[in-house]
Amino acid sequence: MDAKLQSVFDGVVRRNPGEAEFHQAVAEVFESLAPVLARNPQYAEGAVLQRMCEPERQIIFRVPWQDDQGQIHINRGFRVEFNSALGPYKGGLRFHPSVYLGIIKFLGFEQIFKNSLTGMPIGGGKGGSDFDPRGRSDAEIMRFCQSFMTELYRHIGEYTDVPAGDIGVGGREIGYLFGQYKRITNRHESGVITGKGLNWGGSRARTEATGYGAVMFTEEMLKTRSDDLDGRRVVVSGSGNVAIYATEKAQQLGAKVVACSDSSGWIVDEAGIDLELLKEIKEIQRGRISEYADRRSSARFESEGTIWSVPCDVALPCATQNELNAADAKQLVENKVIAVAEGANMPCTPEAVAIFQEAGVLFGPGKAANAGGVATSALEMQQNASRDVWSFEYAEERLHQIMIGVHRRCAQTAEEYGAPGNYVLGANVAGFIKVADAMIAQGLI
Ligand code: NDP
Repeated sequence: MDAKLQSVFDGVVRRNPGEAEFHQAVAEVFESLAPVLARNPQYAEGAVLQRMCEPERQIIFRVPWQDDQGQIHINRGFRVEFNSALGPYKGGLRFHPSVYLGIIKFLGFEQIFKNSLTGMPIGGGKGGSDFDPRGRSDAEIMRFCQSFMTELYRHIGEYTDVPAGDIGVGGREIGYLFGQYKRITNRHESGVITGKGLNWGGSRARTEATGYGAVMFTEEMLKTRSDDLDGRRVVVSGSGNVAIYATEKAQQLGAKVVACSDSSGWIVDEAGIDLELLKEIKEIQRGRISEYADRRSSARFESEGTIWSVPCDVALPCATQNELNAADAKQLVENKVIAVAEGANMPCTPEAVAIFQEAGVLFGPGKAANAGGVATSALEMQQNASRDVWSFEYAEERLHQIMIGVHRRCAQTAEEYGAPGNYVLGANVAGFIKVADAMIAQGLI
């Protein structure tokens, strides 16, 4: 890292002790910025980097709730409103036991640049709780969401901060959260949260958007080498919202998806994933991935080893941060992977990314490849603002054009900075410049 950047980075580490994921996300962006600072001295003079690494506001709150047996639990809620230079804070809520401030800050920081790359007028934020939804009844989930929103409602709003889903927060949770917001405020303010149900303000194609967008981005990367997904062998990690719809779009484009996973293990299905069965187990029954192998003879379940040992042409990590390490990357390269796109946020460790780049593998970083979700959330906000409802085809086509635009912005910026094909550099630099310029234009904020 460049000396000036290193000194800012050291300050970030000192001021935010113990937040390893946040440090990792900042380092990953800073690694790309030396040529930008050299060309634009106003960024250093205006302390733009130091300002960008300090969230505008961080809210931490108590979330008390009662389980079905009457026992009381206390969780911690977070909302980090990171940067509003481009628009209202926008980013999801994550409910997972691993959540702490450092995870929310890494996600919020990434979100700033991702949202900038979409070309939409949205700032960056993220939130969540260390609540573990797994094994909880609908009634428990509802009580938790209501308690969470009872504090969060005062910090959000159509023009302030617009949350959405993430790990552990899907349509059901958004429904309970929105219901409580409406009840407290006496306002049917659709634009306050995205990922809503289709008959009460949600956008068609929002559920599919992140996974579909990641595959559209992959297709754009492949096009640069006159290639496509048709007939390609694909491995997708995770089996949640992003993984399921990445699988669906890859299959629509003629690929064969042969493996997916959850936190208990992974399955390989050489006949190709039966998506209807996967959806039934994961979306309807909220079951475990091993049940897929129990119900399909062509599939086997593994609880040991790694899904990245399954040979493939295209790898789509769609589960969680740091799920694909250097050893996994080496194995994928040995197995002749041609493209990797991050459906999840920061799923590849920095060492893994370096291995892919050195081997000439097309690599799409999360802040570009998974930007389709938040972009379609912005489309949901547009529909809410104009009290309109678009067709699936129209929403999907808008998403497609946005992903082509994100790819083009990354590719052109990488070229401009002398690193053609380096989507990490392209995404970081293009995302950063737009936010930095807006911050300077808006004075010392
Ligand atoms: P879901 O909760 O729907 O699914 C998450 C999936 O990842 C589940 O299959 C889960 O398995 C698995 N998983 C979670 N933690 C681990 C772990 N430690 N090891 C292995 N598997 C794990 O979340 P999403 O699909 O919405 O999110 C997935 C990723 O995509 C996240 O990184 C998220 O930040 C990112 N993302 C999501 C967007 C969206 O629109 N939803 C937008 C942009 C990015 P299990 O059920 O066993 O926990």
